[in-house]
Amino acid sequence: MIIKKVKAKVISNSRGEDTIKVQVKSDLGKGEASAPSGASKGKHEVKDFNFNVKECVDKINKIDWRDMEINSFDDLKLIEDKIESLGANSVIAMEYAVLKAFGKQLWKTLDPNVKVVSRPLGNVIGGGVHVKGGNFCEFQEFLLFSDNAKNVDDLVKINDLAHNYIKKHLKNMDLELKMTDEGAWALEFSVEEILDLLKKIVKEVLDETGVDLRLGIDVAANSFWDGKNYVYRDKKLDSLNQLEYIGSLIEKYDLRYLEDPLHEEDFSGFAMLNENFGKKCMITGDDLIVTNVKRLEKAIEMKSINAMIVKPNQNGSLLGFKEVVELAKKEKLKLIISHRSGETLDDSLVDLGVGFKIPLIKCGVYGKERKVKLDRLRKISKEMKYEL
Ligand code: PEP
Ligand code: MG
Repeated sequence: MIIKKVKAKVISNSRGEDTIKVQVKSDLGKGEASAPSGASKGKHEVKDFNFNVKECVDKINKIDWRDMEINSFDDLKLIEDKIESLGANSVIAMEYAVLKAFGKQLWKTLDPNVKVVSRPLGNVIGGGVHVKGGNFCEFQEFLLFSDNAKNVDDLVKINDLAHNYIKKHLKNMDLELKMTDEGAWALEFSVEEILDLLKKIVKEVLDETGVDLRLGIDVAANSFWDGKNYVYRDKKLDSLNQLEYIGSLIEKYDLRYLEDPLHEEDFSGFAMLNENFGKKCMITGDDLIVTNVKRLEKAIEMKSINAMIVKPNQNGSLLGFKEVVELAKKEKLKLIISHRSGETLDDSLVDLGVGFKIPLIKCGVYGKERKVKLDRLRKISKEMKYEL
């Protein structure tokens, strides 16, 4: 494929922050893509912008891209060599757009033979740094997923149903309705009150649909770790007490997914949880690994995790993303591809998840930035005639 024209511009993400959109024209077709940004970023992730967004856009528009030849995934290196210094989001948006400019659907450019799509993991209640003001729950995301729904359509509908049931409960309790950045319900409840409510919701969904949802949490523990303690609204827990507390939640609520239950440097604490609960619960690293191969190698050596989040712009390049995914697969870690809390209307993430055969996708439940991704997932699964 030969690049004919590249045009970058500044757009706003769902949190109203500036980000980048890139359009690429080639001899085979056109591609357009944008990149999101996180709020609960890991200390070790690649910065999304090394200059202000306008400067990054201007620098991309000044480069003479004409006649650059990209014939394989590995040729993305040519792009990375030119704009790596601008930061993760410029590279990722450009690389998505280039992959789309092959004139095929992005996942087909990656791997036309894939037969499965990723299952959605739905964030329905949240707190932490994804909501401003108030006295909201410290834990960032309470998630629902299913391992027995028959197809992606059902799964998407069921997460939507659960989101609506929660709304009904909140209205009955006369509570003000407020949402997190990702469109989950923001509650001033305790962790246990939220999990008790979710158990009711799971029962209601089971009665209505016959699908038994599983419970998961993204604790995003960095956001309330002060260097010595995990600081809750009503208590402070040191590392050992946090471990015990998390273990008690896994057992009491039969949690099957647990992301970042400890801060981003506690590889050995993760390893303890993995040893004790890894058989039934996904002990998942997000800020711990930040889609970084060196940190993944350390986690493998220390047996810290059995699952991990991958976010393209944490790594800063799709070639780096691929390296991390391949190593994780070799080690039989369960992979979850994830959006960011400041999202755009771009749906490339879904294609990337399908093209790399990533079994789970975390892309939210409610709101237009989330809906485009779920619609894309449904569209791809319909085209594949894929049943779970
Ligand atoms: C997350 O922590 O999993 C997440 C999506 O949050 P953010 O994008 O704010 O890092
Ligand atoms: Mg996370």
